[in-house]
Amino acid sequence: MSKRILVPWAMPERGKEVLRRAKIEVIFIHGPKGELPSINELIQAVKQVDVLIPRGTQPVPGRVMMANPNLRGIANYGVGYDNIDVAFATRLGIPVTNTPGVLTETTADLAWALLMATARKIPQAHNYTLSGEWRGPGGRSFMGMDIGPGGSNRRKVLGIIGFGRIGQAVMRRSRGFKMKVVAYDPFLKESIEKVKGVEYRELDDLLRESDFITLHCPLTKETHHLIGKRELDLMKPTAILINTSRGPVLDEKALVTVLKKGRIAGAGLDVYEKEPRLAPGLAKLQNVVLLPHIGSATTDTRGQMAVVAAKNAVMMLRGKRPRNIINPEVYHSPEYVRRVKI
Ligand code: NAP
Repeated sequence: MSKRILVPWAMPERGKEVLRRAKIEVIFIHGPKGELPSINELIQAVKQVDVLIPRGTQPVPGRVMMANPNLRGIANYGVGYDNIDVAFATRLGIPVTNTPGVLTETTADLAWALLMATARKIPQAHNYTLSGEWRGPGGRSFMGMDIGPGGSNRRKVLGIIGFGRIGQAVMRRSRGFKMKVVAYDPFLKESIEKVKGVEYRELDDLLRESDFITLHCPLTKETHHLIGKRELDLMKPTAILINTSRGPVLDEKALVTVLKKGRIAGAGLDVYEKEPRLAPGLAKLQNVVLLPHIGSATTDTRGQMAVVAAKNAVMMLRGKRPRNIINPEVYHSPEYVRRVKI
């Protein structure tokens, strides 16, 4: 039987080209505007293929994997893989890959854009300019916060939580703003201390000291609600929080409460706990900038992510070991050997 790949979303052309060149039959299923199939539709479609390429945050629970005893790989289109039950895949002998590195700079740009937009109230000012209410001097003022030393002549403190690829790319962008950078990452204390211009902080100390806090850790059991009410209460009243990691890393309900009370100055979010829904009250706040999960959304980067995901899928289809394997232990399992023998 010929081997097939399932792409249940609107893949960029560059990814499709990789699959065409590999002469692999591909089944695409999605709505006319790129709408994702339901879990039940995914379960039906996965029965007919050998490898699945899910879209970044598209859920792939165990029952999707169980639907096909011959599935030989899942090639996620995204660096985060909290959408996939990797532990379950490993038990079943299914390799899982992601697309690290190619979206690092683009996501760091977006985090930085959100930081600046929140600090300087750019969307609010833009909407006011378009509203026709602006009558010149004396109108509504949009007092923001300096990112560089500015009028206070004080170096601002940038706190980075999760000092991996994207966290470090955000740190590099801070250099032009003469910021002091502090970082927290539980297993990287020694390596952080070796990076010039960065000081290690325990989480609570980082929260107390920073003017801007930006989240870049993956979503895991340990990082779920890493930033909750207790942590938000440690922040300065003038501080701004940026989240481009994953929604559930931050307790969104607790965030709405502290923002309503003006306990912190503002928040810039690209990700939410229950996308595409926002926590009640969040959209009504004036001190937020809210984006629809567009961290890696540039034509070039999404194209390159599709290339990486497609190459990983082709390797798995051919029973070879791809570069970006998340669960390498799978290769020692008899279940995996059985799957590739078929
Ligand atoms: P990465 O290189 O793996 O960096 C994540 C860092 O967070 C790692 O150093 C990791 O340490 C650390 N970490 C793990 N647990 C932590 C904790 N409890 N507290 C603080 N740090 C912790 O990943 P990346 O490429 O920078 O991507 C980071 C995340 O960004 C992804 O997982 C994804 O969810 C998100 N993302 C979002 C978008 C978007 O569209 N908004 C785009 C791209 C990525 P260890 O390696 O020791 O675990």
